[in-house]
Amino acid sequence: MEKRAVTELYPMLSVEEALEQVLSHFRPLEPERVPILEALDRVLAEDVYSSFDIPPRANSAMDGYALLAADTRGAGPQTPKRLRIIGDVAAGYVSEAAVTPGTAIRIMTGAPIPPGADAVVRFEDTKQQGEWVDVFIEVPAGNEIRLAGEDVRRGELVLRRGIRIRPQEVGMLASLGRQEVVVIRRPRVAVLATGDELVEAGHPLGPGKIYNSNSYSNAAQVIRYGGIPIMLGIARDRIPELTEKIKAGLAQGVDLFLVSGGVSVGDFDVVKNVLAAEGEITFWRVRMKPGKPMAFGRIGGVPLLGMPGNPVSVMVSFEIFARPAILTMMGITELDKPTVEAVLLDEVKYKDDRRHFLRVYVEGKNGEYYARLTGEQGSGILSSMVKANGLAIIPETWDHVPAGERVQVMML
Ligand code: AMP
Ligand code: MG
Repeated sequence: MEKRAVTELYPMLSVEEALEQVLSHFRPLEPERVPILEALDRVLAEDVYSSFDIPPRANSAMDGYALLAADTRGAGPQTPKRLRIIGDVAAGYVSEAAVTPGTAIRIMTGAPIPPGADAVVRFEDTKQQGEWVDVFIEVPAGNEIRLAGEDVRRGELVLRRGIRIRPQEVGMLASLGRQEVVVIRRPRVAVLATGDELVEAGHPLGPGKIYNSNSYSNAAQVIRYGGIPIMLGIARDRIPELTEKIKAGLAQGVDLFLVSGGVSVGDFDVVKNVLAAEGEITFWRVRMKPGKPMAFGRIGGVPLLGMPGNPVSVMVSFEIFARPAILTMMGITELDKPTVEAVLLDEVKYKDDRRHFLRVYVEGKNGEYYARLTGEQGSGILSSMVKANGLAIIPETWDHVPAGERVQVMML
């Protein structure tokens, strides 16, 4: 592929245009049945109804005595009412004995209300005297009683299809007696690094070599947003080897292919060649910094994001393009990252009309957010990404940001 021809063939897109094109290739994946704990953070793909009341029967909200409210009439600190204790009942058991006028049953929190009783008085408002109990408080019928079905009614729609499962939904599924639930499956995301200079951790660094970090930062991002990374290692910058590694990855069954490096205009940037030869290129280059030389296309029916190799660029490209693609496949519709408005404390100047994503550290102070650059903003400076908790988004129309300007910050 001749360089000039390629730049003319593929006009540089804005971030919005590129994202729209990328997202048009994704939709929610199929549902699958999983154990309820594995449903966490995933989208529910069935309506969940209850086939019984929760709680199943009226029970005590306190440790105390089950009795008849009428027997407490007139009771007070100086005028206790004395009742005979005829039994006790703990949570998990049912009282055989029934409460009759003048009697009470010791009852523990969660135990079913014994027949006959219509109220519970807490231990704190009573004093036991052998077989007898003095009650120092007058209570109405229903006192400290949790009613059958007060949490969930039999037949009720408890969890609606399409919601995202949080710990409280997992707990609700368990209280419905569910062991499994139907959710959207997780996307399988291939992660491939390219570059003759790359070495895997655990091997010595030879002259001119660096460790492969992109595959790991990308795989961690995949996991963070709910996908399953399929680690494909490193491909050398040779068309046959890259082609072979991509085909081997496709054979594992993947929903998205992530490649880092080899998409710029260098002599060995062969990712576009392979994508064009074996599949198709939808676009190449996005008006953003970092992350300009990104290629998107399809290969073997699978969408492929060819992201730039610089360790910061690849992470930013992932956040902007791969993250919403993964969330869409998970069935999630809220694709925006939480963003805050912050006062940028540093002055910044630009040379070009790309959208800039600046690594910043945001702090709240007196109801206002303040952002500071975390250091050198070169695309290869991963340490300034490590120090950052947000990316300040500087519109492509700005060429200068004076200190004290308000900017939008996408929180990481
Ligand atoms: P490229 O986009 O292939 O020209 O790579 C741009 C820069 O990113 C080069 O300095 C590469 O050495 C570096 N780079 C590419 N891939 C990786 C990787 N997987 N891990 C760390 N650095 C990388
Ligand atoms: Mg390279």
